[in-house]
Amino acid sequence: MTEKVQAIVIKTADRKEKDKNILLFSIEKGKTWATLKGVKGANAKMKIAQNLFCFGEFLLENGKFGQVVTGFSSLETFHEIGDDPDRYFGGIALLEVVNGLEFSGVGERKAVFVLLLRCLKSLCFEEVSQGLVLDKFLIELFKIYGFPINTEKCSCCGARTIEKFYFDYQSGELVCGNCKGFGSEELAKTTYSALKILSNCDLEKLSTLKLAEGSELGLLRVLVKNFESHFERNLKMIGILS
Ligand SMILES: [Zn+2]
Repeated sequence: MTEKVQAIVIKTADRKEKDKNILLFSIEKGKTWATLKGVKGANAKMKIAQNLFCFGEFLLENGKFGQVVTGFSSLETFHEIGDDPDRYFGGIALLEVVNGLEFSGVGERKAVFVLLLRCLKSLCFEEVSQGLVLDKFLIELFKIYGFPINTEKCSCCGARTIEKFYFDYQSGELVCGNCKGFGSEELAKTTYSALKILSNCDLEKLSTLKLAEGSELGLLRVLVKNFESHFERNLKMIGILS
């Protein structure tokens, strides 16, 4: 039986001789490995399907040793991401996050899939820094998983006039000085302001933003820590945070 899925290549692994395994992320099947046969040959038909970020329509069949890709048509290769080291590290970090996720159902898979696609587009085609895209990606991801960050008030007592905000990693929310606990960390003014601006900005408008220098990475550290505490997965973000 042949199955058709629209998927993004989020991980690759070498296999014997000319074959390659690719991890596909799709709304229908979530994350699933498939083999590209003979793809390393110079004239291989489905050559571009072995590249990270590649988005396309894949035909999958069950073979003796798992799924095999029997057909492929490209929808967007996002190959420009690889032309620039900063963008590339940003793209790899997006995939690293998705690799660390589990999905409770099709709704969650769809929301993450669409978000990933929009972030790859932004990274690939807009004049926007990879830090901003990653910040926005994580902020939206927390919404999808049911712990959005409210930047207007203390999540504990509800106070709105707050001099200093603290990030509470246990709840994944902002609290005031009176409500902070052991797991809370004071947010620098620039980090808070970056969080507020990004929370209210459309993903497609990131290139119009002007944030304080360094604030996007300061915010990213907080968001990554929040991710790690909720998903119990460490993120390396090579080339960006390490
Ligand atoms: Zn409070």
